[in-house]
Amino acid sequence: RARTLAALRDLPAVTPDGRRVELAVNIGRPEDIAAAEEFGPEGVGLFRTEFLFLDRSRPPGEETQWQAYVAAVRALKGRRLVLRTLDVGADKRLPFIDWPDEMNPALGWRGARLSLERPDLLQTQLRAMLRAAAEGPVSVMFPMVTTLEEVRRLRHAVEEAAASLEREGVAHGRVEVGIMVETPAAALSARALAGAVDFFSIGTNDLTQYTLAVDRTSQQVAALYDPLHPAVLRLILEVGRAAEEAGIWAGVCGELAGEPLATPFLLGAGMAELSMHPRALPEVKRVIRAVRYDEARQLAGELVNLPTGDEVRRRLRSFLAERG
Ligand code: PEP
Ligand code: MG
Repeated sequence: RARTLAALRDLPAVTPDGRRVELAVNIGRPEDIAAAEEFGPEGVGLFRTEFLFLDRSRPPGEETQWQAYVAAVRALKGRRLVLRTLDVGADKRLPFIDWPDEMNPALGWRGARLSLERPDLLQTQLRAMLRAAAEGPVSVMFPMVTTLEEVRRLRHAVEEAAASLEREGVAHGRVEVGIMVETPAAALSARALAGAVDFFSIGTNDLTQYTLAVDRTSQQVAALYDPLHPAVLRLILEVGRAAEEAGIWAGVCGELAGEPLATPFLLGAGMAELSMHPRALPEVKRVIRAVRYDEARQLAGELVNLPTGDEVRRRLRSFLAERG
């Protein structure tokens, strides 16, 4: 088994009928790339930048951030790096931010909502990201979006950062701009949002939490937390279709991307990229290489009509069993 997985490393993630999927990894710091290399990642689909901001009494400056981002760009040697802007609030709080007193912080001031009200933090981060993009392909991704208005303002913020670097004559590169789809509103508005972004990356951890109204950190309701609930799958399929129609790429960077049982569904829903914990990559690749895209598409359409997550799992298990 270990030998087979090692042999898989240099093979492409392509279905028998020729559908290619990019398999990327999620990281929390640039050093994670070296550690992930043994699994053959094709890029980084989610760099959670929070680590730069934790355990500090003041926010990190542009130089500190640039060093971390450019280290990741260099380690990737031409492979894509998706940098997510600061995603704090909810359960992650920083000492240098004045937190409001909220009854439901997960529904409150977090992610891009906070970034839009702290242009000082956002501009510094975007400038560092754009500067890193001078050395390789970088995509900027915004978390916790619910409206087109937010997307327009965030895109504008990227243009502003680029213009300031341009004026100062500081080297920088062009970036793709995308959003995490992790709220039901974003998934259900995917057709409207698709025209304003270069890509979608589905955050199934939060999307599950918000769709099912199940706090992802609560043990009390953990049994209800199910990313394979047909309601969640229906939203993922909607996002995939919207992306196809608009001609942009869609991927998944939530935990579900690293779950081999879910791979036939995500493939069939039109996901062009799956970003996961490095160790999950070989198994997911194995499934992709065993499953036909046309069959996965048909399966995806069936799964969203099943009544329960358990039935989804049963159907996925038998689908996979039939295909080795
Ligand atoms: C997600 O919500 O699925 C996600 C990838 O982001 P995080 O887990 O960091 O909230
Ligand atoms: Mg999230």
